[in-house]
Amino acid sequence: MESKKEQITCSQCDRGVDEDNDFCPFCGSIFVDNVSCVNHNELNASGVCVICCEPYCEKCGTNVNDIFLCEKHSEYEIYQGMARVFGISDEAQAQYVKSCFEQEGLHPFIYSRKAGAWHMGSGDYTLFRASGEYDGHIVNEIKVMVPLQEVLKAESILLELDVSS
Ligand SMILES: [Zn+2]
Ligand SMILES: [Zn+2]
Ligand SMILES: [Zn+2]
Repeated sequence: MESKKEQITCSQCDRGVDEDNDFCPFCGSIFVDNVSCVNHNELNASGVCVICCEPYCEKCGTNVNDIFLCEKHSEYEIYQGMARVFGISDEAQAQYVKSCFEQEGLHPFIYSRKAGAWHMGSGDYTLFRASGEYDGHIVNEIKVMVPLQEVLKAESILLELDVSS
């Protein structure tokens, strides 16, 4: 019965958003008036966290690269509308996590900053040192990213999987 939803353009990020949305799922800006912070009833929310979809005031939320996030979720690495939920140097593990997400209907994406480094034998860290970027953590991390709206589900799947990051 329902015809295709009307789209409006978010004035904050210029993305097309379904008209019946109360907030922009891409940047968290609120389209309706008088939304209060979930922590502070008396304060107007200044955005909706794009990960947990709760409204927060400017004290409880923060803008990270023009995306509104609550304090709890501001730690996520976000890249082109996707958030990093898992990172590991072992490609097989990363692929395993990705396939588990896909089985659950998520839309994961694998992002590696330095593709091509994986032919190095495991345990060989010379590459990291030689690159001058090694400072105690693995810089050649393979990131498993999911769309922002799928982060919470991805986190709960990760809890069930026997993987460590
Ligand atoms: Zn927006
Ligand atoms: Zn949040
Ligand atoms: Zn607040």
